[in-house]
Amino acid sequence: MSFVRETLEPATAEDCKACWNGGPLGQNFRCGFCGYAFQEGDLFRGIYTNDLPYAGGNPLVCRECNAETSELRKRWQEKWAEWRALRQDRFWWFARRSSDGN
Ligand SMILES: [Zn+2]
Repeated sequence: MSFVRETLEPATAEDCKACWNGGPLGQNFRCGFCGYAFQEGDLFRGIYTNDLPYAGGNPLVCRECNAETSELRKRWQEKWAEWRALRQDRFWWFARRSSDGN
């Protein structure tokens, strides 16, 4: 089953040890909205966003943050916009040294 789905499903032991978001095994198995680190049995799902300009990533969402998919896609766009503004305006000094950017 794809992690991108409309319903929340419990995290399996395999989910907890998998590669998420291109990181080391298990490290990025977290809610993209609040940062919660999923444990086995926690409900989660993924939201497809890779079609959104400057708001890709297909984030995972926890039970607390879950909402209608359209609402989550909007919130994800807003998070990206907030991040870009922080990096490019308030924290430009630090970001110029970073290679993690979009
Ligand atoms: Zn969350």
